[in-house]
Amino acid sequence: MIITKSKPKEVFLRSLEGFERVFIVGCGTCATLCQTGGEEEVDAVANLLGKRTCGKIVVETPCDIRVLRRDLSPHLDVVDAADVILALCCGSGAQAIGEFTGKIVIPGLDTLFVGETERIGRFYERCRACGDCIIHETGGICPIVRCAKGLLNGPCGGMANGKCEAGGHVRDCAWVMIYKRLEEQGIVERFKEIRKVRDRSKKAEPQELRMR
Ligand code: SF4
Ligand code: SF4
Repeated sequence: MIITKSKPKEVFLRSLEGFERVFIVGCGTCATLCQTGGEEEVDAVANLLGKRTCGKIVVETPCDIRVLRRDLSPHLDVVDAADVILALCCGSGAQAIGEFTGKIVIPGLDTLFVGETERIGRFYERCRACGDCIIHETGGICPIVRCAKGLLNGPCGGMANGKCEAGGHVRDCAWVMIYKRLEEQGIVERFKEIRKVRDRSKKAEPQELRMR
């Protein structure tokens, strides 16, 4: 899931200065679960903007142009008349909205990371979409995200008592976690394998996937 957090009210209000008619688009998937861009949050922002809100909608998945077309098409006259669209969704969704409508889009959220959900309001970064997944070698734990230095071989000299030096030995060292997980899985010998420097060419940016 894409984890987002709401921009402080004064920040997006400042971005909306000079625009009189604002159309608000929320997201019915990730931002709804993050409680940043679902029905409730869209209604709250619409109320905050009062008469400046000329329309609002929660699109199921605004990052999917096909769904945007399906959900926004019946409202295009209102969207066209708007001065600006306030996007309560991730940056990918906000850009898709801009591409589809051609309108100025103001992001109402900050996109943080690809995360795992423990419960609503508690999310953890777990993948940085590196394009070359290696978690089968690391006990299912991603060192790129969970090691503060993104080391592919660890632990580094900053580990003490299983904790990471980054942040003051509070958080568990990713490589200690990896060691323990491999041990639990009965494949601890994999820990000794030296992982080579990453092939950065696998992540030429911006990334695309064209299967057909
Ligand atoms: S190695 Fe980590 S960052 Fe790369 S794809 Fe796997 S989980 Fe994501
Ligand atoms: S102490 Fe562990 S988690 Fe922290 S930077 Fe070193 S190897 Fe990575």
